[in-house]
Amino acid sequence: MTNLTELGVAAIRDGVADGSFTALEVAEAFNANVAAAAALNAFIVATPEAALDAARATDARRAAGQPLGKMGGVPIGMKDLFATKGVQTTAASHILEGFKPEYESTVSAKLWDAGAGMLGKLNLDQFAMGSSNETSYFGNVISPWRRSDGGNAPLAPGGSSGGSSAAVAARLAPAATGTDTGGSIRQPAAFTGISGIKPTYGRCSRWGIVAFASSLDQAGPMARDVTDCAIMLEAMAGFDPKDATSLDMAVPEWEANLSGDLRGKKVGIPREYRMDGTDADVLASWDQGIAWLKDAGVEVVDVSLPHTKYALPAYYIIAPAEASSNLARYDGVRYGLRDLPEGANLQDMYAATRADGFGAEVKRRIMIGTYVLSAGFYDAYYTQAQKVRTLIAQDFRNAFTLCDVILAPTTPTAAFGLGDMVSDPLAMYLNDVFAVPASLAGLPAMSVPAGLNREGLPLGLQIVGKPFDEQGVLNAGLAIEQRAAFSAKPERWW
Ligand code: GLN
Repeated sequence: MTNLTELGVAAIRDGVADGSFTALEVAEAFNANVAAAAALNAFIVATPEAALDAARATDARRAAGQPLGKMGGVPIGMKDLFATKGVQTTAASHILEGFKPEYESTVSAKLWDAGAGMLGKLNLDQFAMGSSNETSYFGNVISPWRRSDGGNAPLAPGGSSGGSSAAVAARLAPAATGTDTGGSIRQPAAFTGISGIKPTYGRCSRWGIVAFASSLDQAGPMARDVTDCAIMLEAMAGFDPKDATSLDMAVPEWEANLSGDLRGKKVGIPREYRMDGTDADVLASWDQGIAWLKDAGVEVVDVSLPHTKYALPAYYIIAPAEASSNLARYDGVRYGLRDLPEGANLQDMYAATRADGFGAEVKRRIMIGTYVLSAGFYDAYYTQAQKVRTLIAQDFRNAFTLCDVILAPTTPTAAFGLGDMVSDPLAMYLNDVFAVPASLAGLPAMSVPAGLNREGLPLGLQIVGKPFDEQGVLNAGLAIEQRAAFSAKPERWW
């Protein structure tokens, strides 16, 4: 009997469709893995009944000879940033504890329409602010990976989609949703040996996703391989009139057009990404990636992204600025938490609720954002950062006159230990140094597993594409995947 939890999206969908097993058997197997993995703290809420109900519906459709959908019979984890009707949605913040939306996010609704089922709501950094999942009100997610030297130090699963990455790597779900504002799909995917793609800004509707920085936020799939990402992204993407920045474009057939044959393509290697402080194993894996793509038929060209060093400072102005505005809505009146001290007036209630409800990192971002938007500093910081953003987008446009996709590491290091960086927010922010430029430029970008470092921890390679060219990104990812033949998985200790 196949171990169903070792199967990915395509294998489950196809196996359910051809009757090798039922969707119910699949849902039961993953529910059991979720229940047995409390030690990882990947889920804030498990919803085993929702997974079983969706599976029964798929099995009934199959019995009736009806089409099963792109994700038919596939149970998934849902990052707890997506509003799910009647199911607690918290963004991993105390301020939203107990909030049960009356509505379903567009992306999750599309996934259910495509036949997927929900295993539960996945832990994340609070309001998706963080790179290690340590800012969650509901506790750290612990990576299923451990260093091969026998030390059992708990490692970060990356962030902010740390519950998603841990769940997929640990076989608690074949796939999960993520969101990426400045790397939150790609960095956790790289840390846990899985694949994840952030599509072009606007591909996936933001409607019903708790907003962090609206000009950057994008949803995307996290799964064990490139094909599974292509399938799930097709189910998630599409025009939505409820999101003013939604792309009014047809969703391409990414899965059907997957090809690892890259003859005639050019891959750009950005020279500014060879940065001080980048780990030697990461640089070696980048060189290996270049060799793999050459083997797939590409021509390799040097490109320059001269404003790269300004991307991180610009991101850490723009993202907090937008966050400070988006998070103004949590006031104790509308959602979740309300702290109403004895004899308090309305102002006191706002202050008490926000002081108690937001975590330290969220408060830090709100204060930075409010500062850079304040009258005296707006031009010096916010306007300047917006100009830098334009220059970064222009850098990519120039580079893409010379190449079809860009190859770079996803992160400057492999996973670090929980607790290693919490006292130094700037060191934590540096994790995003390779991820943030593509976010600022709104470009599709993906991380695929490239191998293990000398400590036995996964490393990811990042592919950045032209606007709307998810296909080019996925195909380059596939070419790497075929050559990396990454099959390592964490040994079960939980
Ligand atoms: N780690 C980055 C931050 O803290 C990115 C987060 C994200 O993409 N949601 O802002």
